[in-house]
Amino acid sequence: MKDMKKGGCHCGAIGYEYRGKPICCYACHCTDCQTVTGSACTISIWVMVDEVQVVRGNVSVSYYT
Ligand SMILES: [Zn+2]
Repeated sequence: MKDMKKGGCHCGAIGYEYRGKPICCYACHCTDCQTVTGSACTISIWVMVDEVQVVRGNVSVSYYT
């Protein structure tokens, strides 16, 4: 499906599909993110909850509105 993005968490427990435009995008430079990625930062986005579908590991997901 066009414009659908797929992803998941670092350990693979959670998978998701996402469609839409991010609310914001930011870079985190904390030492946890640097250690996990082996880089200077991670890039993350905020999205609307109704534009994301958890396709694996839903019991481990928390939603904040
Ligand atoms: Zn971080």
